[in-house]
Amino acid sequence: MAGAGDARGPGPAAGEPPPQQRGACQVFPERPAQGKPPQEGFLSGFFTNDQKCPLMLLKTLETNPYVKLLLDAMKHSGCAVNKDRHFSCEDCNGNVSGGFDASTSQIVLCQNNISNQAHMSRVVTHELIHAFDHCRAHVNWFTNVRHLACSEVRAANLSGDCSLVNEIFRLHFGLKQHHQTCVRDRAILSILAVRNISKEVAQKAVDEVFESCFNDHEPFGRIPHNKTYARYAHRDFQNRDRYYSNI
Ligand SMILES: [Zn+2]
Repeated sequence: MAGAGDARGPGPAAGEPPPQQRGACQVFPERPAQGKPPQEGFLSGFFTNDQKCPLMLLKTLETNPYVKLLLDAMKHSGCAVNKDRHFSCEDCNGNVSGGFDASTSQIVLCQNNISNQAHMSRVVTHELIHAFDHCRAHVNWFTNVRHLACSEVRAANLSGDCSLVNEIFRLHFGLKQHHQTCVRDRAILSILAVRNISKEVAQKAVDEVFESCFNDHEPFGRIPHNKTYARYAHRDFQNRDRYYSNI
């Protein structure tokens, strides 16, 4: 989500498999119409997927504490996010929920695979973490798999992808260190969804960066395990901003 003319890579940074079906295919090199504007002209109470997507996105941007913090952090880093410019609701191939397209600094939302508001919020949060990483650092998404691995670890760790309620639904509850295991597994799956590499290579990349990237909680300052934590993190971020602006 860096400024205009930013072209650090020729295609996608990441594609996310939905939680219920972790196997996914590579979808973004075949994006049919980049930058397609959201559909307009909502009629009556009946919405199709391509009409629901921008409405759910708007609600997520305005109300979700994870997203509000990330939007503030992007703005603070000089990469202000514009709803119409930086998000694109599209139909995607396979089971992918969304992705960050580094070549256009756009977040793709797979309207045919995002099923409800909570899912929309998780996808937007996850992709905004990639966008934040893209903004703050020179990320070699395509030439250095460890850079991708680091951002996937951070996105899985901080987006709520591995929050307790999600995990209970997956019937994995009760293991110590489970959050770390979930983050590692999801990071590996996200890499495999967009890179044609072996599972062993993906695992090695994740393991090499895991400790430092798992402990990098920016811009949250903590692991926001639920919306209450995310609200606290947002408040602290705003106070941090205020402190610096008073110097
Ligand atoms: Zn990702």
